[in-house]
Amino acid sequence: MSELDFASLALPQQQLTNLSSLGYEQMTPIQAESLPLMLAGRDVIAQGKTGSGKTAAFGLGLLSRLDVKRFRIQALVLCPTRELADQVAVEIRRLARATHNVKVLTLCGGMPFGPQVGSLEHGAHIIVGTPGRIEEHLSKGLLKLQDLNTLVLDEADRMLEMGFQSALDFIIDETPADRQTLLFSATYPPQIESIAKRIMVTPALVQAASTH
Ligand code: ADP
Ligand code: MG
Repeated sequence: MSELDFASLALPQQQLTNLSSLGYEQMTPIQAESLPLMLAGRDVIAQGKTGSGKTAAFGLGLLSRLDVKRFRIQALVLCPTRELADQVAVEIRRLARATHNVKVLTLCGGMPFGPQVGSLEHGAHIIVGTPGRIEEHLSKGLLKLQDLNTLVLDEADRMLEMGFQSALDFIIDETPADRQTLLFSATYPPQIESIAKRIMVTPALVQAASTH
């Protein structure tokens, strides 16, 4: 078995079957480097170019910690834009087909607020959204993150460039301290290093420049 085989990971057989049905035959380099660390519960900073497969990396990581029987918000993925959040939600839903009834909810700015409140009342296992809108739901007490076990910052460099630093700080403050934190970024500027130092526990740094 090659070290790039998904079967080298401690994933359920249904997930391995699902991955091959998605046409994912082998892990991309960033997946092969980051997934063993994530599955071992480590905080991970992963830096890799667009198209390197970062979504499935954190998607498989957060799904491995999800208890579908507990209908609570267990994972939060923050993205810089609505388009990216929608793409991430689609990918997580595809990966979640291996488990039945995983509810993924997107909460993004630029969308009407009221329907999101209704959706939150119905509950979810995983939230994907943009920082400003997530902060708004949290500050109004409509979203509670006390059961969160995984926090993902996707495209963290872009979120900082877009001025989301204070929204991120607010959100992170609302999450349990014992969460797993996964930070994905195309670049690794000093601001990312400094936010990582503040919010992560001995993070492993994975840098994969190549695409698959
Ligand atoms: P990134 O976030 O690093 O820019 P994405 O997560 O959007 O990259 O993935 C890019 C594309 O690669 C997507 O179409 C995704 O479905 C596909 N992909 C991800 N992992 C694999 C894999 N192991 N095998 C084949 N395709 C993959
Ligand atoms: Mg991405």
